[in-house]
Amino acid sequence: MTRAATYLDHNASAPLRPEAREAMLAALELTGNPSSVHAHGRALRNLVETGRQQVATLAGAEPKQVVFTGSATEAITQALIGGATQFSAGAIALSAGEHAATLKAAAATGLPLWTIALDAEGRIDLDQLSSLLRQADEQGVTLLVAVHWINNETGVVQPVERINALVGPTRHTLFVDAVQALAKLPLDFAASAPDMMAISGHKIGAPAGIGALLVKSHADTVRLIPGGGQEQGRRGGTESAALIAAFGAAAATSRYDAEAMSALTQSVEAGLGAIAPDAVIFGRGATRIGNVTNFAVPGLNNATAMMALDLMGLSVSSGSACSSGKVGASHVLAAMGVPKALANCALRVSFGWNSTRADAEAFLAGFETLLSRQRRDGKAA
Ligand code: PLP
Repeated sequence: MTRAATYLDHNASAPLRPEAREAMLAALELTGNPSSVHAHGRALRNLVETGRQQVATLAGAEPKQVVFTGSATEAITQALIGGATQFSAGAIALSAGEHAATLKAAAATGLPLWTIALDAEGRIDLDQLSSLLRQADEQGVTLLVAVHWINNETGVVQPVERINALVGPTRHTLFVDAVQALAKLPLDFAASAPDMMAISGHKIGAPAGIGALLVKSHADTVRLIPGGGQEQGRRGGTESAALIAAFGAAAATSRYDAEAMSALTQSVEAGLGAIAPDAVIFGRGATRIGNVTNFAVPGLNNATAMMALDLMGLSVSSGSACSSGKVGASHVLAAMGVPKALANCALRVSFGWNSTRADAEAFLAGFETLLSRQRRDGKAA
């Protein structure tokens, strides 16, 4: 008997929220370009500005601080490539646990990269950040500091308040990748230190293809795509009113139930403790967001495990998929000092707005079956 697959990969992309679908379908009925001054254009402009207001509210930003982009990857690229030019950065200081979007955009600037280490629990090393700030001042280098708020692989919550306190009062620029934090933690962009912040629609229940860069007024001139002056000249290209309306609707209806998420994750971790006492949970000693767990059972290769779980109808991730769909080695776990052999066993289970206890139970039942098969076949250590 076949049953619907269980989705346990919300950190990769959240299922579409019904409210986002409705808003998008309604917008698709409209004709025109939001920049046109006639009635058709004005109706679409109205949707774009409503969406902007809704996204701004969730991010604690002012609507004028929201620049819609095609993805968070684009927003990050705008922040780093555009920001490096705008702020005459002499180097980019970024943590070793950044998303590939940040690592690659930073590399594309051609600037020296000053890497900030992660500790064994996956936290950004604040002492090293402080000493890099001192070093920059001694050398007269202006830094563009790029950090993430919540790690997409481990769920480790970075000490963004303390990073704000360190970088905020300086002349250096601070960019925060808040993709995994939006709708999970209270964001207060307007009143907090970061100069720029990136967010993404599809992590909160909008479709993929819409993100935003939040900018303070002094970062208003940070550019990547010039084009026809849309987004107040900050990002060229006709705005997708349908995607923006969907992002807005998802933002307006997102209610992160921290208790429910933690209960699901804790039940998985407790279950793992019983069926695989040798399982290692990454970032366990750090503050983690409650919707995700990343663990490894020594000897159980993640590519093999994911395939077997997939056949059982369980969609999980290794946390470090390449765009080719192959499982890549995790640079985040490597930065935490996890030996490669163990990192190659890492699996990520992440929950979200429509996850239930039955999903957690289905995972544990499937994983137990997988482990007993592996043990029977002598493939697990
Ligand atoms: N940053 C983080 C932490 C992410 O988890 C992701 C998505 O995986 C991104 C950036 C990129 O977001 P997008 O898919 O909207 O480009």
